[in-house]
Amino acid sequence: MNNGDTIVALSTPAGRGAIAIIRVSGGGAHEMLRSLFRPFGGAEMTPNMLTLGEISADGIRDKVMAVIFRAPRSYTSEDMSEVHCHGSPEIAARIIRGFIACGARAAQPGEFTRRAFLGGKLTLDEAEAVGDMIAAQSQAQINAAYDAMRGRLSADVAYIYNLILDVVSAFEAAIDYPEEDVEEQTEAEAREKLTAARGRLEALVATYDAGEKVRGGVKVAIIGVPNAGKSSLLNRLLGRERAIVTANAGTTRDTVEESYEYRGVLFTLVDTAGLRAAEDEAERAGVKRSAEAAKTAHIVLRVTDLTRPAPAETETTGTVIEVYNKTDASPDRPTGGVCVSALTGEGIEDLCEKIYEAALGEGVSADGGMLTGARHYELALAALSALSEGLDSLGSATPDCVLVDLRRALHLLGGITGASATDDVLDSIFSRFCVGK
Ligand code: GDP
Repeated sequence: MNNGDTIVALSTPAGRGAIAIIRVSGGGAHEMLRSLFRPFGGAEMTPNMLTLGEISADGIRDKVMAVIFRAPRSYTSEDMSEVHCHGSPEIAARIIRGFIACGARAAQPGEFTRRAFLGGKLTLDEAEAVGDMIAAQSQAQINAAYDAMRGRLSADVAYIYNLILDVVSAFEAAIDYPEEDVEEQTEAEAREKLTAARGRLEALVATYDAGEKVRGGVKVAIIGVPNAGKSSLLNRLLGRERAIVTANAGTTRDTVEESYEYRGVLFTLVDTAGLRAAEDEAERAGVKRSAEAAKTAHIVLRVTDLTRPAPAETETTGTVIEVYNKTDASPDRPTGGVCVSALTGEGIEDLCEKIYEAALGEGVSADGGMLTGARHYELALAALSALSEGLDSLGSATPDCVLVDLRRALHLLGGITGASATDDVLDSIFSRFCVGK
């Protein structure tokens, strides 16, 4: 994709705003800007510094700030320029057309970041973290994406990779030059390094449980018989009215999804149609969907009305928390669950904490990298299995056999950082980015 051409795109969101930023990257970026933009007072442009001046493109003029970045000291590692114009979509579109008239072409989604990756500015996981940063909705999502973008995961992966690589290189030297006096790697040394690599990789794989919840949010399903107070509880947890609450059983026919943030983590609540034999078609569909939602939820809140206890059955792989609702109307306080009143708010804080603990245990670990994406997790898991096989056969199998496993582990780890990622993988990752990033 990077064949030396110059790309241009709007990097701020489409729509009207105070300013719009247009980015240009590639060999022609500076020349094109010079032909459209005149600094006020005839000043020369200094790299990395905003300069005030006038742009003239496609029949319009605007007073703008512009900046140039010289390769390789830019986001993409190529020559880049940026124009900060007044935020009218029409102005931005005409400036982009001005660059296209100078020979630039419209950038594809994620093409700036793809060039940054190809230019060696970012590893693949760091580039993916840029996408996560833009998509982040909660404090924990932002912090996890920021850590990954700053290289926390790639540093962890590089550490593991290098331990394995040390062993592989020593084996290869011994096989390729048996007659040379290469320093012998003892089996104990190899075992020590591979065991350390495995320990670190196991720890990394273990972060996925919390990491995927941080990245994607924790899915919480609320189930219970009609009128147990599910919709009221949802509103309470969200702190505002969302689901329709009525005294008639069966109002919530469909599932309702809304999110709240607690201790920085995003929780998505799914209020389900009352779990019971449904009478009409629409309700049956709702009940079916709610059973599905409960099945795949991380956490299921099983709500029981203390004034009219009736069990609700559900199938789930998640953790079930018993919620006894309507404490304001009943003196009963069953143990083994959380007693709340969706009406008065009593016990809700305690419930939020219980949900957090059930989903994330001690909380989100702060040391080392964290696996948040399924792609990374699958590669790390497969690398762990290859590494374990190599380690297990050390001493009993021939060095060639051990090397096959270890090279496979290296290849899989390289898929995380991009060292061994194919064009197809890159296409699928960067096509999910927005244009201009
Ligand atoms: P759902 O069918 O399970 O979603 O139940 P709703 O949230 O619609 O509530 C059913 C009825 O119970 C409504 O009349 C609510 O006002 C009432 N209700 C819900 N929570 C409480 C509570 O904590 N205390 C009391 N007294 N009433 C509640």
